Amino acid sequence: MAIEILKLLVRSADSWIFEGSLSGLSDREWMALRYLARANKFSRTPSALANFLGTTRSAASQIAAALQSKGLVARKPFAEDKRSIALCLTEEGEKFLKRDPMNALRDRLVALDVTDQFRLRDTLRSVLDGLDVGKRRHHADICTECMFLIERGEGKDRHFRCQLFRKSIAQKDTTQLCAYFEGRSERGQLQAGV
Ligand code: SF4
Repeated sequence: MAIEILKLLVRSADSWIFEGSLSGLSDREWMALRYLARANKFSRTPSALANFLGTTRSAASQIAAALQSKGLVARKPFAEDKRSIALCLTEEGEKFLKRDPMNALRDRLVALDVTDQFRLRDTLRSVLDGLDVGKRRHHADICTECMFLIERGEGKDRHFRCQLFRKSIAQKDTTQLCAYFEGRSERGQLQAGV
């Protein structure tokens, strides 16, 4: 059974790992565009992109430059520190995501029963989190799963704060990707040396 599941996972990777280009972008460029579309305000820097792609900062800068030359990404001063650069999708970049080769797989997942979607998500999360702990590496994920998120209040007084950056986070931004994410359970496992 495990081998069969592995084969299916490898087959699903055809949606985002491919030779050459699709709609003019390589698989790495698609990965970067997808990440920048979902990254939160702390995670749109060239170094966060390099971290996400698992590459050097100079390779990530080349990918960002390629996206910029196609008018899909723009470099802007970081709102909270003008010396830093934020990589932001342009309007063209947002529209271009409609051509994402991963959309076909996403649409198949959306068509699943909601209970099956939750089950699949939780199972994959649990398997992959175990691998990340084993390799002692972090991955980008959303605030709502992060140990640094503090949630206070209820109803219209409900608000969120990041303990790491010591800044407030709007509720709509808590589902964006963060390169500094640290899972609640991972931290305990890392400290315990599991
Ligand atoms: S709470 Fe975690 S995921 Fe959210 S911004 Fe802070 S470090 Fe990133």
